[in-house]
Amino acid sequence: MKAGELGHGLAIILSGEVNVTRHDFLDNHTPITVHGVGAFLGELAQLAGRPALVDAYAQGPVDALVIPPDQLRALLIAEAELGERIMRALILRRVGLLEAGSGGPLIVGRTSNSDVLRLEGFLRRNGHPQQRLDLETDTCAKALIERFHIDPGQLPIVLCPSGQLLRNPTEAELARCIGLVGPIDPDRVYDAIVVGAGPAGLATAVYAASEGLSVLVLDCRAFGGQAGASARIENYLGFPTGISGIALMARAYNQAQKFGVEMAIPDEVVALDGVGETQAGRFRLKLSNDERISARSVVIASGARYRRLPVAGLETFEGSSVHYWASPIEAKLCAGQEVALVGAGNSAGQAAVYLASQVSKVWLLVRGRDLASRMSRYLVDRIASLSNVEVLTEAYVTGLEGRDGTLDAIRWHQGRSGPEVRKAIQHLFLFIGAEPNTDWLSGSGVELDPRGFIFTGTQIPGTRPVFETSRRGVFAIGDVRSGSVKRVAAAVGEGAQVVAALHGYLSASNLQMSQVGAPPLSVD
Ligand SMILES: Cc1cc2nc3c(=O)[nH]c(=O)nc-3n(C[C@H](O)[C@H](O)[C@H](O)COP(=O)(O)OP(=O)(O)OC[C@H]3O[C@@H](n4cnc5c(N)ncnc54)[C@H](O)[C@@H]3O)c2cc1C
Repeated sequence: MKAGELGHGLAIILSGEVNVTRHDFLDNHTPITVHGVGAFLGELAQLAGRPALVDAYAQGPVDALVIPPDQLRALLIAEAELGERIMRALILRRVGLLEAGSGGPLIVGRTSNSDVLRLEGFLRRNGHPQQRLDLETDTCAKALIERFHIDPGQLPIVLCPSGQLLRNPTEAELARCIGLVGPIDPDRVYDAIVVGAGPAGLATAVYAASEGLSVLVLDCRAFGGQAGASARIENYLGFPTGISGIALMARAYNQAQKFGVEMAIPDEVVALDGVGETQAGRFRLKLSNDERISARSVVIASGARYRRLPVAGLETFEGSSVHYWASPIEAKLCAGQEVALVGAGNSAGQAAVYLASQVSKVWLLVRGRDLASRMSRYLVDRIASLSNVEVLTEAYVTGLEGRDGTLDAIRWHQGRSGPEVRKAIQHLFLFIGAEPNTDWLSGSGVELDPRGFIFTGTQIPGTRPVFETSRRGVFAIGDVRSGSVKRVAAAVGEGAQVVAALHGYLSASNLQMSQVGAPPLSVD
C-alpha cells in the first residue's frame, strides 16, 4: 500500500514482515518501522477509512487479518481495554508523524506568504501531517518550480501524496485531494446533522453517536472552533496544569470518530431550508459546493467569528501580518520581534502570555481603563508579572503602514488627548470579540436576537424544550445561542444536554433509529 491510497482498515500481521516507510517528493524512502507477526499496521486515518499517510511494503509473502474501519470502531467500543490500547497506538503513531513532519502533502512557497500560512494553518488545525519547502532557502524548491513550469502567480504549490499537483489551492481543494473530505451521500438521512465542530458540536457528536444516533458533523474550517485557537485553556475542569485548545479538541475529534460520527471538514453550510420546504420531518441543508444533505434534526453549533478592527487597509495585511490566532505558526513568524496585540478579554490575555514567551515585546492595547474589568484575575496577574508585556490602556489603533501584505509600522493613540504614536512593528494580533455565525440561517425561519444570536427554549413564546429554536427539530447550542456563557465548559455541557432534547424530539416524531448502524427508517 502506498501513501495516498485508500486504506482497507487495520491489518494484523499473521505471518511475514511489512516495511513501513515514508517517501519524499524525490522518491527517497526513509524507514519508519518493520512490523512482524503479532503487530498491526495502521494509524488514525484507518479509523475513518481515509487514505494512508505512509507506504507499507510486504517483505515476501504476508498473511494478515484486515479489520475494516467500521468493524474497527465497533471493536474499540466493544472491547474497552483492548480498544484503549489500540486507540492510544493509533493516536501516538499520528503524533509521531506530526512531530517528524513526515507524510502528508508538500507545500512549496515562501515561509511568510499568506497562502502558505493559510494552508499550513489549515493542515495543522486538522491534525494532518505536512511538509514544506521554502522557496527562498531551498534549492530543491526552486528545482521543483522549474520542473513543473510554475508561474509566480500560481504559488504556493502543493504536491499531494497521490502525486497530484495543486496550484495555490483553497482549503476545500486541498482537503479533497488528500482525502480529508469526500462527497456526502445525498440520499442518506441522518438522525442529526451538527453544524460546527467546536466544543459544542463535538460534544453533541460524541454523546449522540455513543447513544446510537447517526450523526454528521460539518465545519467550514477545522475541528476545534475558537477553542482550537486557545494557546492554553486553564479553566477547563480536570486539567489542573492546563491544556492547549488544539490538544483538547483533537481528543474530542478522535473520540467522535471512534463512535462512528461522520465528519465533513471543511464543508460550509450555506442554507437551511425554509419552514414550508421541510418535508416529512426532514431538514435539508445546502453546502457551499452545492451538495445537499438531509437529517431528521439539526443542531446549530456554528459559534462565532473574530471581529475586525475598523482601520483602513486591514484586510491587505491579514494572513501575513495581521493575525486572529496566536499559535506556534504565528509565533515562529514573529520570534524575537516586537508585536502589538489588541484586546482585553481572556483570549487576548492568553495570547499575550503565550506570545511573551516567544517575542521580544508585546504591546497590549486595551480600549478600556484597565484589564481587570474583562479579564480573569489569574491572567491579569500573570501579565503584570511579565516584564516584556506593556499594557496601554485607553489605546486604539489609528493606522497601518506597509506594502505587499507586510506591515512596516502601526500607529495608535493613547488616552483622549495623547499624541499619535508610530512604532515599527510587523505583526498585529487582534482578539476583540466575536460575532455570531448565523448569516447562513437567513430565510430559514430560525429567530435571532438583535445581535444575530439564536433564540432558544424559554426565549421563545410557547413551551419549548431547552435549546430548541423557533423551529421544531432545530436546536442551537454554544456561543451561537443567545445568552450563552462563552466558555468551553459551557459549550461542552450544552452539547451533552442537547442530546436528551434530540432523543425527545426524534422519538416524539417516531423517527429515531432503533440501534447503532441500523439503516435509517423510511419516513415517506
Ligand atoms: C483565542 C481564544 C481563547 C479562548 N480561551 C478560552 C479558555 O481558556 N477557556 C474557556 O472556557 N473559553 C475560552 N475561549 C472561548 C471558547 O473557545 C468558546 O466559548 C467556545 O469555543 C465556543 O464553542 P462553540 O462550539 O459554541 O463555538 P466555536 O468554538 O466558535 O465553533 C464553531 C464552529 O462552527 C464552524 N462554523 C461556523 N459557521 C459554519 C457554517 N456555516 N458551516 C460549517 N461550519 C461552520 C466554525 O468554523 C467553528 O469551527 C477562547 C476563545 C478564543 C477565541
